[in-house]
Amino acid sequence: MALIVHKYGGTSMGSTERIRNVAKRVAKWARAGHQMVVVPSAMSGETNRLLGLAKDVSPAVQTPAVTRELDMIACTGEQVSVGLLSLALQAEGMEAVSYSGWQVPIRTDSSYTKARIQSIDDARVRADLEAGRVVVITGFQGVDEDMNITTLGRGGSDTSAVAVAAAMKADECLIYTDVDGVYTTDPRVVPEAKRLNTVSFEEMLEMASLGSKVLQIRSVEFAGKYRVPLRVLSSFTPWDIAIEEEAKSGTLITFEEDEKMEQAVVSGIAFNRDEAKLTVMGVPDKPGIAYGILGKVAEANIDVDVILQNVSHDGKTDFSFTVHRNDYQRTLDLLKSQVVPAMGAEAVIGDTKICKVSIVGIGMRSHAGVASTMFRALSDEGINIQMITTSEIKTSVVIDEKYMELAVRALHKAFGLDAA
Ligand code: ADP
Ligand code: ASP
Ligand code: MG
Repeated sequence: MALIVHKYGGTSMGSTERIRNVAKRVAKWARAGHQMVVVPSAMSGETNRLLGLAKDVSPAVQTPAVTRELDMIACTGEQVSVGLLSLALQAEGMEAVSYSGWQVPIRTDSSYTKARIQSIDDARVRADLEAGRVVVITGFQGVDEDMNITTLGRGGSDTSAVAVAAAMKADECLIYTDVDGVYTTDPRVVPEAKRLNTVSFEEMLEMASLGSKVLQIRSVEFAGKYRVPLRVLSSFTPWDIAIEEEAKSGTLITFEEDEKMEQAVVSGIAFNRDEAKLTVMGVPDKPGIAYGILGKVAEANIDVDVILQNVSHDGKTDFSFTVHRNDYQRTLDLLKSQVVPAMGAEAVIGDTKICKVSIVGIGMRSHAGVASTMFRALSDEGINIQMITTSEIKTSVVIDEKYMELAVRALHKAFGLDAA
C-alpha cells in the first residue's frame, strides 16, 4: 500500500461529467489499496471568471488591501471543486472528505496572490487516511498566521499538491493534466513537439521558470527540495486503464543527472508572454546606475528579470529591464516619478509587446556554440533580438511578441527536436 497524491487541473475538472471521471479514477487507485489524497483546481475558466468579477467592481491598483480580497474571491473556485469531487467519490461508494486550505491547515506567508507555503499540518489528513477515507484538499489556497486566506499564484494547485506530497512523505505525486506529459515545447504551439519520457529536475525548473506552465515553478522547487517523486500525465486516458500502465505513462521528473548525459544538447524550448520591457533613456553614465534604478524597483517589491545596459554615448546610456506585465504600469509610474528626476535621466519608454523565448538543456554545459546556433536560427527568420540572457543550462532572448511562434518553431527545428 502506498500513499499517493493526485492533482487534477482545471480542464480535468472542467464539467460535472469530468469530475465523475476523476472520481472513478481515484476510486480505482483507492480500491487497489492505496491511501489517496486528491488536490483539484477550480473548474476551467472559473478563476479567470472570479478575478474578472473583482476587476469589474474595482479596477484599483493591487494594494495589499485589494489583493487580500482578490484571494478571498479567487479561492472559492477550488472550494467548489473539492466539494463536488468529494460528492462524486461518495457516489462511487468511497468514503471521502473535502477540506479547504485553512482547515488542513496549509500555512503560508501573507503575500496575497503569490503566497508561499510555510508549513502543512498533516495530522487531520492522516487520521482520515487511517480511517479509510479519500481526502480531497483545495489546490491554490492557504491561510496566513492571522487567518487570512491566501492564494499561491496562478497555476498554484501544482504547488499545493507537491507540498502536500512532501509534508505527507507520499510515495508519489501524480499531476494529471490536459496533455500527456512534458513536451519539448508547448504542443499547442508546435504540433511537432515530442513528449519526454523523463526530464531532469534542473531542466524542469528552468522550463517552468521560463514560462512552460505545465508545472508551476514552485511545485518543481518543492519537488527538488523534498525529493518528491513527481510525474506529469493525462487525465484524458480512459479512467479504467490498468494502474501499472498509468503509473509509468507521462513524464517522470528525475533527479539523477547521469541518465541525461547522452541526450540532446537542448531538451526544450520555453516561451513567456507575461513580461514587459522598460527603458530609462539618457542616464548619465557613472557608477551606481543599476542600483539607482533597480534599487527603487526592488523597494516597491517588483521582480526584475532580464537586464541590459547599453554602451554609452556622450556620457549617457540607456538602461533596459523586464518585469511581469502585471507590474508594468506600477513600474512605469515609479520610474517617471522617482527614478528619472533622481538620476537626471531623459525619459522612460515602455513596451508591453515583447516575449521571451528560451532554450533549455543540461547538455549546454558541455557544448560550445549552442547560443550561436540559436542566434543564427533567429536571424535566418529575420527576427531581431532585443535582449539576451544566459545561464549554465539556458539561453533566453527577448523579441517582438509577434514573432514568438515563428521563433519557437524555428528553434525547435534548429535543435533537432522536431525529429527527436
Ligand atoms: P492544468 O489546468 O492541468 O494545471 P495547465 O494549462 O496549467 O493545466 O498546463 C497544461 C498546459 O501547459 C498544456 O495544455 C500545454 O498547452 C501547456 N504547456 C506549455 N509548455 C508545455 C510543455 N513543454 N509540455 C507540455 N505542456 C506544455
Ligand atoms: N485555479 C488556479 C488558477 O487558475 C490554480 C490552478 O489552476 O492551479 O490559476
Ligand atoms: Mg496548471
